[in-house]
Amino acid sequence: MMRIGLGGIWQETNTFSPQPTTWEDFRRYQLFEGPELVSALAGTGTELGGAIAAAREHRVQPVGLLFGAALPAGTVDRVAFETMLRALVERARAAPDLDGLVLSLHGAMVVDGHPDPEAEIVAALRGVLGELPIGVSLDYHANVSPALARGADVLCGDRSYPHVDMAERGAEALELVVRMVRAGSRPDRHLVKLPLLTVPHAQEDAAAPMRQLLAAAGALRADPDVWAASALPGFAYAETDRLGFTVYVAARARAAERARELAALVWARRAEFAAPLVGPDQAAAAATEAPHPVVLVDVADNVGGGSPGDGAVLLHALARARATGAVAVLWDPAAVARAHAADGTPMSLRVGGHSDPLMGPPYPASGPVRRYGSVSYLRTGTYMRGQRVEMGRVAVVEDRIGELVLTEHRVVPFDDDHLAAVGVRPRAARAIVAKGAIAWKAAFGGYAARAVYARTPGYCPAAVDQLTYRSRPEPLYPLERDPRWEAGVTAALVRP
Ligand SMILES: [Zn+2]
Repeated sequence: MMRIGLGGIWQETNTFSPQPTTWEDFRRYQLFEGPELVSALAGTGTELGGAIAAAREHRVQPVGLLFGAALPAGTVDRVAFETMLRALVERARAAPDLDGLVLSLHGAMVVDGHPDPEAEIVAALRGVLGELPIGVSLDYHANVSPALARGADVLCGDRSYPHVDMAERGAEALELVVRMVRAGSRPDRHLVKLPLLTVPHAQEDAAAPMRQLLAAAGALRADPDVWAASALPGFAYAETDRLGFTVYVAARARAAERARELAALVWARRAEFAAPLVGPDQAAAAATEAPHPVVLVDVADNVGGGSPGDGAVLLHALARARATGAVAVLWDPAAVARAHAADGTPMSLRVGGHSDPLMGPPYPASGPVRRYGSVSYLRTGTYMRGQRVEMGRVAVVEDRIGELVLTEHRVVPFDDDHLAAVGVRPRAARAIVAKGAIAWKAAFGGYAARAVYARTPGYCPAAVDQLTYRSRPEPLYPLERDPRWEAGVTAALVRP
C-alpha cells in the first residue's frame, strides 16, 4: 500500500502586530504528532482532513508526521518554529518507506530569523527524504516565493475567500502526489510574482476582479495537461520580500506561457482592487436602517488577519447613532475576569481598547451580565468544519447598543457557532460587528441583509498607505504609481 506522509506548520503572520506568536499559541490552537495527527484531523474541513479523506478513497495509507497551526498574530518565535521543524524532520526520517508527502503550509508565515520558512520546511524535508514527490496546499493569502515553487513538486492554492475549499485543496494535493508516484513523472512549474499589493476586503472570490481571475485560472485547469493553476492575491500585512500577488501553474508543458497569460490578466485589472470604505459614524447610521441584520465590517481589526479583536471604535459609533440590537464580540480577558469576580447584575464595565492605544478608548458598557465558565464549541459551518475551538471564560453584557460578547481567548468570526454557544442569535440582530474582512461571510453571509465596510483602526487597515513597511519589495502597486514602470511590467508579461 502506498504511504503518504502528512505534515505542516501553518500561520498567517501579521508583522504589524506587536504580539509574537509563541509555542504556546501553536499548542493551544493545533499541534498534532504521529498517528494522533490522522485521528485528530480525519473528518475535519481542514487541508489535511481533506488529504486524509482522499487517501482513504485512493487506498493510500496516510502517515501522520507533525502539524502545528496558530491563529494569525505577530511574527513567529524562532524557537517555536525550529522546535516544530526539527520534530517534523525527525518524524519524516523515522517513517519507513514513504512514497510521497503532502504538506499544509499557509504561505504567509513570517518567522524571526527564517526569511522564507515555507521553502525552508520543504528543503529540510527534501534533505532527509530525497526526491520523493511533495505536494503543498497553500492559503489564498500565501505570499509565495520562487524557492517554494521550485522546492515543491506541486502547489495547490485555495480558490475561495472565505476559505471554504481547504479540504478540497488538501485532497487535490494528495491526489496529485499519488499521480506523481504512479506515473513517475513531475509537472513543469512556473511562478510569476506580480508587484501588486491588494487588501483582504478587495479579494472576495465572488466579486470583481477576483471572480474573473479565479475563473481564468479555472479555464487553464480545464486543459488536462494542467495539474494546478492558482491566482493567489497574498497577504499585505506580512512584511517580507515575498509580498505580492502570485500566479502559479504546474502543467505537463507550457507552464511558463500559461502562467504569464494569467499574470497579464491580473495586472491588467490591478486598479479594480481599490475597494470603498465608510467612516465609523456612517457605518453605525446604516445599522439603524432596515433591512436587518446589517454587518458592520471592522476591516482593520481583522482577528483572522492578526489584529487583536478588541477595537472599540464601532461600539462608540453605535452608541452615538443610538443604535440598538447589535451583536459584537471583543477579546477582553481583563473585563471577563472583572465580570466573573463580581456577583450580581447589572454592572458597568469598560470594554475593549486595552491591547494597544490604537484600538481604544475602551467603551463604557453597562447592563445585565451573563457569565459562562470555560466555553468551547465545535465548528459546524463551511469553514474548518469539525474543529473544536476554545473561547475561555465568557461574559455577555446586555448593553443599550446590544449584546457585547467578551471572551478570554481571541475568537475568529468564521462561523456563528461561537455566538450560539453563549445564547446569542445573530440572525435576529439589527447589526453584527464582524472583525474580519471577508471571512465573516462564511458565518453571516447566508442571512446578512447587507454589509458596510468601515474605516477603523487595527493591524489590517484596508488603506495600505496607513501602514509603514519596514521591508517590502519596491516598487509595488498601488504604493508606487508610475505609468512608465507599469507599462514596462505589462510589456514584460506579454514579451518576456
Ligand atoms: Zn487566508
